[in-house]
Amino acid sequence: MPWALAVAVLGGGFGLLIGSFLNVVVYRVPNGMSVVSPPSACPGCHSEIKAYDNVPVLSWLALRGKCRSCHEPISARYPLVEATTGVFFVVVAIRFLPHGLLSEAPANFGASLLALVAFLYLAAISVALGLIDLDVHRLPRAIVLPAYAVGAVLLGASSALTGDWTALLRAAIGMGSLGLFYALAWFFYPAGMGFGDVTLAGVLGLFLGWLGWGPLAVGAFSAFLFGGVFSIALIALKRIGRKGGIPFGPWMLVGAWVGVFVGPAVWHGYLSLLGVA
Ligand SMILES: [Zn+2]
Repeated sequence: MPWALAVAVLGGGFGLLIGSFLNVVVYRVPNGMSVVSPPSACPGCHSEIKAYDNVPVLSWLALRGKCRSCHEPISARYPLVEATTGVFFVVVAIRFLPHGLLSEAPANFGASLLALVAFLYLAAISVALGLIDLDVHRLPRAIVLPAYAVGAVLLGASSALTGDWTALLRAAIGMGSLGLFYALAWFFYPAGMGFGDVTLAGVLGLFLGWLGWGPLAVGAFSAFLFGGVFSIALIALKRIGRKGGIPFGPWMLVGAWVGVFVGPAVWHGYLSLLGVA
């Protein structure tokens, strides 16, 4: 238990810092700006934000949501993104927690750790991509494409440590099938899907497939379930026309994470119903 607590606290603290960085990514990447320079500045008065005013969540609270120099309001979205990423990282850390240094063989411990890092990375880009897609209806290639390499290397190394090659085969099948499915949807119904969704589908298929058939199936299905229910609700409430522009990326991401967390249980229940398991 102390081990679990330590991982949760470390994961949460790390998540807050990453969340702070994601605010920069979400703002700058769609504009083609560098995420490392120049340093963050107040959009109002352009004064550089000092390190002590850049502590996740706490600085915003201490400054009561206003710039120290010009007192222009700072959006509550920044601390919210930081806090959300912190909580997200805690939950992912608990889900992928290696059970302990002593209780596991070193290879298994290392494999769990690699999987944890891979899924923390997926969590971080999920926050960034979800927000960017909501903001500007795009899923920037600069974020999506490297995820193929990161996923393949980390999850590949994890499988190599345990010799679980079927996980890698599933990852390849997940990547190919989900990518192909979205490519067909994009080709035949371009109004409903952007090509960014197709590239993201391959990434999600890779990660979900590596985890298992349950996460892959539940993750893929949930995206359409949530996206569909939400669209129908909006149309019913007459908030949008039938051609309303809701990006699909956020639903793909939410669906994928539902697959990560409840996919194995739902899959097991489904196989039990069929009498297979
Ligand atoms: Zn200012």
